[in-house]
Amino acid sequence: MSKRAKCSQCDFLESRCLCAYLFPIENQTTLIILQHPSETDHALNTVRLMKKTFQKIIVITDEKFSLNSQFMELYKNFKESMGLLFLSPSSLPIENYSDRKLSSKITHLVLLDGTWKKAKKIFHLSPELHSLPNYALKSQQKSQYRLRKSPIAGALSTLEASVLALKIVEPTINLQSLELLEKAFDKMIENQIDKMGQETYQENYLRKKTKEK
Ligand SMILES: [Zn+2]
Repeated sequence: MSKRAKCSQCDFLESRCLCAYLFPIENQTTLIILQHPSETDHALNTVRLMKKTFQKIIVITDEKFSLNSQFMELYKNFKESMGLLFLSPSSLPIENYSDRKLSSKITHLVLLDGTWKKAKKIFHLSPELHSLPNYALKSQQKSQYRLRKSPIAGALSTLEASVLALKIVEPTINLQSLELLEKAFDKMIENQIDKMGQETYQENYLRKKTKEK
């Protein structure tokens, strides 16, 4: 078998197969991932792992979601129970979610997948997002995303943010299944560091600060 052969299940190279970590997660809250087109082919995009595990997940790739018919259809149908996870001047800590009245229950959680700059662009170009209840995680959590630095302290990958938010909005979710997904994420990062070699990793990611393009 060729060294470059891909696993048919997880689409990673067979030598870096993550299937041992990927199990279905029975989430009740639908995740709606609005993905910037620049993320689609990024080898380390975390949504790739999320699509393999979360049972309720919708990924839409675009920049201006006001013009995206799939998003607009979801928005029309579920806007009353949608919540947006995005750090903005008006976002409320999602940790306070349980204090809120049941009428504001989130059934659809929207996340923006892209670099901080691209996520901001999506937010600004899509006015519908401004009308949704806007939450953010108190960013004391440290990202494990050692390869893609964000200029915002405490910024997390889409996967990490989804896991933390789901634990809050859906307390009955199976925590073990979320832990396995986090392990898959760690393993993906580890594989990538092995691939580039520890030396390159130290040189490019630990000593210097990478600037977002
Ligand atoms: Zn696999």
